[in-house]
Amino acid sequence: MNRFIASLLSLGCLLTAPVDSVHAASSPLPISVVPMPADVNMTDESYEVTSQTTILFAPEFADSAQTIHDMFSRAGNIDLKMTEVKEDEQEAKDNSICLFKKSDEDYATTESYRLASNAKGVTISASGPAGAFYGTQTLRQLLPDYIEGTKAPLHPYWIVPGLTIKDTPALGWRGAMLDTSRHFHPVDQLKKFLDGMALLKLNRFHWHLTDNQGWRIQIDKYPKLTELAAMRAPVNGFVKGYYDKNDIKDIVAYAKARYIEVIPEIEIPAHSSACMAAYPELSCKSVPFEFPDPKKKCGEFFDTWYYELEKESRHFCAGNEQVYSFLNDVFDEMLDLFPYGIWHIGGDERPDGVWSKCPKCQDRMKKNNIKDEHDLQEWMMRRISDILASKGKTVISWGCTRDQKYYNPEYVDNLGNNSIVLNWHGYAKMACQNGMRCVNACSPMYIDYPPFENYPGFERPSWMPFCPISSIYQFDPIPEGLTPEQEKLIIGTQVCIWCEFLPTDELFAWIYPRMLAASEVAWLPKEKRDSYGDFCRRVDDLEVRFSFIGIPFAHPVVGGNKGDQHRR
Ligand SMILES: [Zn+2]
Repeated sequence: MNRFIASLLSLGCLLTAPVDSVHAASSPLPISVVPMPADVNMTDESYEVTSQTTILFAPEFADSAQTIHDMFSRAGNIDLKMTEVKEDEQEAKDNSICLFKKSDEDYATTESYRLASNAKGVTISASGPAGAFYGTQTLRQLLPDYIEGTKAPLHPYWIVPGLTIKDTPALGWRGAMLDTSRHFHPVDQLKKFLDGMALLKLNRFHWHLTDNQGWRIQIDKYPKLTELAAMRAPVNGFVKGYYDKNDIKDIVAYAKARYIEVIPEIEIPAHSSACMAAYPELSCKSVPFEFPDPKKKCGEFFDTWYYELEKESRHFCAGNEQVYSFLNDVFDEMLDLFPYGIWHIGGDERPDGVWSKCPKCQDRMKKNNIKDEHDLQEWMMRRISDILASKGKTVISWGCTRDQKYYNPEYVDNLGNNSIVLNWHGYAKMACQNGMRCVNACSPMYIDYPPFENYPGFERPSWMPFCPISSIYQFDPIPEGLTPEQEKLIIGTQVCIWCEFLPTDELFAWIYPRMLAASEVAWLPKEKRDSYGDFCRRVDDLEVRFSFIGIPFAHPVVGGNKGDQHRR
């Protein structure tokens, strides 16, 4: 619902007009839901939630029932009655919102759901709690946007349009990677990030925890990682720039409550200068850093100095046994924090030529009959994959290590143990043709790039393309030329949000509303994304809703307009 209509409705000016007719006049898909459900049929009925409405729910769906209750309590000061019902008593009653559990065979996945609303009430049905959760997120977006706030208008209009929805996600992995190394994002910011993901039915938070500019995870056995390598040096002295173990447990639990799995990433072997600042003995050079500025430890801000250090051997030494015991220790401490089965181990952008000059690396190559640095990296990453497999974890990596320029679309690493490739450079097709699972996240999904070519106030580096919302919307994660069996190996897609140039206070207005396009790419198959114009309409309608949860959309640009920013 757009702001204009919402304000008219709140004043009671249109109380006699059904919501459907307000929208139906201008669009064949009048609801403003993102991602758009796979199958929607509108009716001319509608349902109004009142203080007499009852929430009937299957015990397994209690959390979603509570979410609905709390929304009305917070926004409308309405204490809806909640009644748990057994499976054989699941029957909709007049004036009720129902969350019913159904048998598996009627639903494609546990994330699938159905939602039906008519004059009597709303019924969400699913075979599992995730499906009920996603049905609830759709119901949220069907209600007026002020349901997200804490104070509804004097005469709220809690109307749900009449419709039937059959919905299921196209892809099981619908992710968002956030770089918390280049700029450190505090816990509250991450929670807001997860709130946005949940509303958009995204379900994998890929947490980039380490890079050249900072090591952001507390590891007790190696205190210098946080004493030295995670301290930010802003204007007024050093401040904590890492997540302690309680922070991480808090975030993982917060994500879990929103059906989001957390995928931690430790970057190996490159992008690790921060770690080497703390423990230089893990690098090929093995001598302490000389910081160019004594006031500066590992920086918050992008600093080429840290990147250049990599070329001076400041990444993990592949030949040093100490490296593998260090990583083993780090992983052991992470086991209590990250319960899910997939962890990311980096694997991108190792500068060439460093390992060739290192006696330990050379010795390793000789002993294991390894012919070059690329094979050495694959050997190293496989070994780390084996270490994690012994702890019950499957690795995902950036996938491609074989080239003078750090990547090569002609080659993709296989790290064994059913590992997954996170494609960022055009080798998704090759990964699938080699029988590997792949999350396809190449450049249209890089939403840290500016939204259009000459973004005012942003000096775009020569290597950085721009990433308009329309390009994201047209992206198909399934590459052409695969057999149906190979297509199934594309298990998902995700946005990547690198933060070299993206400070905390600018994060949301930079990535929104492009996150909406990404969520629809992950949820709807390409052939169902047939109206970019309708998508833009929904983006406009959802701006106020997101502002209620503290997420601003990109602001209008001086000399341009909001439409340009969203749609070019
Ligand atoms: Zn070495």
